[in-house]
Amino acid sequence: MSSNNIDAILEVKDLLVYYENAIAINNVSLKCPRGKVTGVFGANSAGKSTLMHTISGLILDMRIKEERRGGERITWYGDVLYNGKNITNMKPSDRAKEGLILSPERRQVFPESSTMENIKIGGYLATREEAKKTMEYVFKLFPELINLKNREAGFLSGGEQQMLAIGRALMAQPKLLLLDEPLLGLAPSIEARLAQAIKTINAETGITVVLSEQYARPVFPIIDYGYVLENGSIVLEGTSEELMDNPDVLGAYFGM
Ligand code: ATP
Repeated sequence: MSSNNIDAILEVKDLLVYYENAIAINNVSLKCPRGKVTGVFGANSAGKSTLMHTISGLILDMRIKEERRGGERITWYGDVLYNGKNITNMKPSDRAKEGLILSPERRQVFPESSTMENIKIGGYLATREEAKKTMEYVFKLFPELINLKNREAGFLSGGEQQMLAIGRALMAQPKLLLLDEPLLGLAPSIEARLAQAIKTINAETGITVVLSEQYARPVFPIIDYGYVLENGSIVLEGTSEELMDNPDVLGAYFGM
C-alpha cells in the first residue's frame, strides 16, 4: 500500500508536542486508512496517550486546565487532518460531533452509574433511533453485559468494564474510534475476546479504528497497518506482515 494514495480518514503531519520543555511527540506523521484498523505500539511513556489526546482534541482541555492552575505549558506544532480538514485547534466536543470519538485509557466508566446508564450517557449525540439501534448492537456484541444492565459499573470486572467503555463509545456514533490501550491489565483470554470484538465492530459497521497498545501480540491478528513509537518518534511502520517480519519488533512488542 503506497501511503500517498490511500484514502486516509485521519492524517497527522509533522506533529510535535511538548510538556513544558520536555518533548513527548517528536515529529510524528501518520495516516490512518478509512475503514481499516491501525495500531500504534510503544512502551510506557512512548507517547501513545499524548498522540491520542492530540487527535481527539483533549489536549486543548488539558492545556486550559494547566494554564488555570499555573502548571506546565503544553504546546504543539503540526497538523491533524480529519477527512482532509484541519482540526488541530477544533474543540474535542466539535470533533465528537463529527464522529471522532476517544475511548480513553483505563476504561473510564462512571463507577456509580449502572451499566445501562453508562451506555445511555454515551448516546448523547445520537438520535433516538440511532441510540436504540446501537444499544441493541452493543448487547449483541457483548451479551455478557445483558445480565449486568442494572449493576453499578464499578462492580464489573475489568473485561466487562472495557466492553462497557467500548459500548459507550459506540453509542456516540463514531466514524473514527480511538481506543487508547483497550486491553491494558486484562487477562489473556479476555484480551483475545476484546480484540476480536474490535475487529467485528470494524468489519460489521465499517467504523475506522485506531488503537494503541504496549504489546502488539493480542491485537496483531486484527490490525491492517501499524506504527511503532519510541520516545515520541515513529521508528517503524508497516502492514502487520511487514512488522511481523522484523526481528526487533518481534522481540520488543510481540514478546516473541
Ligand atoms: P503509558 O503506556 O504509560 O500510558 P504513553 O505511551 O501513553 O505511556 P504518554 O502518557 O503520552 O505515553 O507520555 C509521553 C511522555 O510525556 C512521557 O515522558 C510522560 O512522562 C510525558 N507526559 C505525559 N503526560 C504528561 C503531563 N501531563 N505532564 C508532563 N509530562 C507528561
